[in-house]
Amino acid sequence: MSLEFSIEQTNGKARAGRLETPHAEIQTPVFMPVGTIASVKGVPQDTLEELGAQIILGNTYHLYLRPGVETVRKLGGLHGFMTWNRAILTDSGGFQVFSLSQLRKVSEEGVTFRSHLDGSSHFFSPESAMEAQIGLGADILMAFDECTEYPADRARVEESMAMTARWAARSKQYFEQHKHRVPWSQAGAEALERPARQSSAPNPAKAGRNSEPFPASGSPRLTNASSPTYAGQTQSLFGIVQGGMDPALRKESAERTIEVGFPGYAIGGLSVGEPRELTREIVRSTLEHLPADKPRYLMGVGTPEEIVEYANLGVDMMDCVLPTRAARHGLLFTSEGKVSIKQARYARDAGPLDPNCRCRVCQRYSRAYLRHLYASNEVLAQVLNTIHNLSFYLDTMQRVRHSILLGEEYRFLSGAGLDRNLEL
Ligand SMILES: [Zn+2]
Repeated sequence: MSLEFSIEQTNGKARAGRLETPHAEIQTPVFMPVGTIASVKGVPQDTLEELGAQIILGNTYHLYLRPGVETVRKLGGLHGFMTWNRAILTDSGGFQVFSLSQLRKVSEEGVTFRSHLDGSSHFFSPESAMEAQIGLGADILMAFDECTEYPADRARVEESMAMTARWAARSKQYFEQHKHRVPWSQAGAEALERPARQSSAPNPAKAGRNSEPFPASGSPRLTNASSPTYAGQTQSLFGIVQGGMDPALRKESAERTIEVGFPGYAIGGLSVGEPRELTREIVRSTLEHLPADKPRYLMGVGTPEEIVEYANLGVDMMDCVLPTRAARHGLLFTSEGKVSIKQARYARDAGPLDPNCRCRVCQRYSRAYLRHLYASNEVLAQVLNTIHNLSFYLDTMQRVRHSILLGEEYRFLSGAGLDRNLEL
């Protein structure tokens, strides 16, 4: 088995579980930091480990455009490339195609889009999105879906949801036929070594600096990435439920996605501009239609208060760019509420950012220093702010898990949340 999910304890609708993936066992509910282009902006991998990040996200759209799937695949997949030995999840690229790229054209076959980097034209289909994600080699990959825009009329949402269901079936079919090609599986590793051996032969004609962009086989890092430990293991593909803000269409989408059959299910298409109350209502109603014994992943939410609330509703996995993006804008989440570190009131504040936080930033630096770094536009400001915010999110989720195991409901005492409409 390449993915095993067990529930240790429930408390109301909340669940504390364990999700076993080829690279790591994950304790749920879990918050997953976003590492868009194989980097959680500003935070080195060893610090992520120290913060207790169990699984991070990569964005297929970004990695496909730069540095390219083939480059990552030849370097052992994302695990080898970024030397991260814990779990990784990649999205399908669908959300970014719909939110970032220009001039996209959607058909039953797939989506033609222009890169936001250089305007070049590309095509994603369920099949090519799977091919890209197999090359990237995350532990968990996502079916290719259409993220329906908001607002949209019912006919449009229904049509989009039905296409996502057909794409889910195509995604699964392609994945099942090609999953053995993941870079860290035995077959994938053999395929990986072949071109490396050829390129290691001396070739004076290719003596230029870029003639061997990849290390020859036998590099310790590559060996690690394709270790026999993973022999026989593959990635796991999750399905995505769409259906806009219509509970009936969400139900139908859940049923159709479950019919295709996946080891885990995600709720997509939320946090697209709808009011927070509506997000909550759709999450609550959609969860009712998902199988209790499979992991449930809510994509792209939310504030600290929201991730606690969704965990209490029975969500097992969540990701959000908010802690990292807000940190780069000087907005910090603390146990005493949110802090905008740019404010002059902190200029001579010798206290720690959050007296209740054990992260290395709060242990070492004062609010005055963090304010100074931010006001001076120092790179270190982004690094330290991001470390603290991620620590706050990861610790929050750990406390939620602990509460579930104790049979208590975890709630924030103070307004640690950040209003969604706050300008970033
Ligand atoms: Zn801290």
